[in-house]
Amino acid sequence: MEEQPVSDYGYQQYLQEEKLMGSRCTACGALYVPPRGRCSACQQTQMEWQQMQGTGKLAAFTSIAIGPPFMIEQGFDRNNPYCSAVIELTEGPRVVARVEGVDARQPEEIQVGMRLVARFAQRAVGDEVTTSLTFAPV
Ligand SMILES: [Zn+2]
Repeated sequence: MEEQPVSDYGYQQYLQEEKLMGSRCTACGALYVPPRGRCSACQQTQMEWQQMQGTGKLAAFTSIAIGPPFMIEQGFDRNNPYCSAVIELTEGPRVVARVEGVDARQPEEIQVGMRLVARFAQRAVGDEVTTSLTFAPV
């Protein structure tokens, strides 16, 4: 695929290819996932793509019983909550994503610091397939 400009659209295109991409500031090296067009550390706008390994650890999480409509459509509700988490990537940036493969009804069994790996969840919306970033235990 052709190189995408650093943008949310480009980020989504890479997710479809099962690549987790962030942006790296060419001046100070700060990393952002999802990518940003402007560095919040040094304010300049020269960013380049950097591919992440897709590994990290659980930094914080919450069980969500009443989610947004697209999660309710997927069968998540009060009786089947899901785990929304902050994941600290191996490269340093923190991303918010759902964690699969853990029991959100038993949050006491979910360990902060547990190692996670990126998954690319595909979901059909009408005629289109969208890919969203999720994580699962290693
Ligand atoms: Zn910078």
